[in-house]
Amino acid sequence: MLVPKQPNHGLGSPVPGDLFGPILPSGFILRPNCLDLATQNAVWAAIQDIEAAAPLRRLMTKTGKFTSAAMTNCGQAGWWSDAKGYRYETRDPQTAAPWPPMPDVFWTAVKLAARQSPWPMFSPDACLINFYTAGAKMGLHQDRDEKDFNQPIITICLGDDADFLVGGPNRSDKTAAVVVRSGDAMIMGGEGRLYFHGIRKIYPGTSPLPNIAGRYSLTFRKAL
Ligand code: MN
Repeated sequence: MLVPKQPNHGLGSPVPGDLFGPILPSGFILRPNCLDLATQNAVWAAIQDIEAAAPLRRLMTKTGKFTSAAMTNCGQAGWWSDAKGYRYETRDPQTAAPWPPMPDVFWTAVKLAARQSPWPMFSPDACLINFYTAGAKMGLHQDRDEKDFNQPIITICLGDDADFLVGGPNRSDKTAAVVVRSGDAMIMGGEGRLYFHGIRKIYPGTSPLPNIAGRYSLTFRKAL
């Protein structure tokens, strides 16, 4: 089932996500236009500093293939994958340096996204940054490398539009695609915290930020 493109409603709804409640499973909250353009630009600038210290790279998975999205991290812990599997590392395994600290504007962004949600006090210790260029995707997966599944994962979208796939608790469950755009936030918590999800495709050239040719997702986690 393909969910049609949704209009941008900003923060007009007192509990954003209500408008789309019937579309997304329980625990998934899409907050369109959560970040204004100025904040999106500030987030982009902060990502450039992170990339200078901890470059984006495609990571090897257990199957020996590389992720099509390029990744880096900031915060106390960073998500990592290699031949040994998935895990969090407090230092960049390729440089042994700590991951760059979470920039102030990242805190601003994630607090805006968590505001008026069931997790207003969400305090992430890790942010996995994924960068998708044309053709990149993320297969259906669950996020289960974090210690406490009572904590949500909050994703901030930046750059090109993308089809975000939402499934269910089992890999074989039906999926629906919802379009996520620059400035949108997607919360996965509660019942949906362990649901399968992925990125089916991005729409090149749709970024409202001229500096971004592709799509960043900033996925905030309480990992440790
Ligand atoms: Mn995920």
